[in-house]
Amino acid sequence: MGRLDGKVAMVTGAAMGLGEETCRVFAKEGAKVMITTGKSVQAAQMVVDEIRKDGGDAAFIQLDVRKEEEWHRALEQTIRTFGKINILVNNAGIAIGKNVEEATLDSWSLEMDVMATGVFLGTKYAIKYMKENGENCSIINISSMEAIAAESIWFSYCAAKGAVRTLTKSAALHCGGKRYKIRVNTVYPGYIHTPMNEKAAKDLGLSLEEYYGDALTRHPIGYIGKPKDIAYANLFLASDESLFITGADLCVDGGYTAQ
Ligand code: NAD
Repeated sequence: MGRLDGKVAMVTGAAMGLGEETCRVFAKEGAKVMITTGKSVQAAQMVVDEIRKDGGDAAFIQLDVRKEEEWHRALEQTIRTFGKINILVNNAGIAIGKNVEEATLDSWSLEMDVMATGVFLGTKYAIKYMKENGENCSIINISSMEAIAAESIWFSYCAAKGAVRTLTKSAALHCGGKRYKIRVNTVYPGYIHTPMNEKAAKDLGLSLEEYYGDALTRHPIGYIGKPKDIAYANLFLASDESLFITGADLCVDGGYTAQ
């Protein structure tokens, strides 16, 4: 028996990195998975093909999380394809390495649009469709340890991830108060090796060793995380094993925020 048997999940920004791994783990545990992707259509199709080859059930749809009308289309397509939605992981994100003096209105707005507005829209519209099915549902919002222990280089990123923390708690209180069977929680990854960090290192003109070398000193566990570390935390929050957990903060950061 899979830990997500009978459930339908949607994951944003899922053609690579943490979203991709989350989709693979969810499918292995019995969920039908709608992979959503901004631009990486080919990569998303590959993830779908591989999940199906392994006996899972998956499809993909394009969704720019900043666009309200695309949320309706993606959620309705998920319900047409798989009959309902039980799990949403608001995972899509970007990281722009600019401090408060370097940040521009454009770089600020882009990060806020993708990671604060995108999570707002996903949470709002997932609730709309989830409350109709009357089943146990779970929304998982991916923040970052940067929401708790900031770094100067990720100014707008820290702000967007901070917004995720409190919008999640407010939505959890609302759903609880309404007695919807919808839980809303936040996951805070530490540094995890994904394409996001590869790009960030390149943008900062650093080798991966230099980039992670500095980050490593802030992870008491002594290594940089792997996508599976986050995927399994997401799995727990997605499953009915966590039914009494809502509005919670789950740090998956090798001790980064314990200091
Ligand atoms: P990634 O770059 O590997 O994947 C992120 C995905 O989001 C990409 O496919 C990208 O195309 C997509 N995306 C960007 N803008 C989008 C938009 N407007 N609409 C739809 N999709 C969009 O990154 P990742 O490392 O897998 O990160 C996943 C999440 O985890 C992000 O929210 C990130 O901020 C968070 N996070 C990552 C780390 C880390 O070290 N990797 C640490 C803390 C938090």
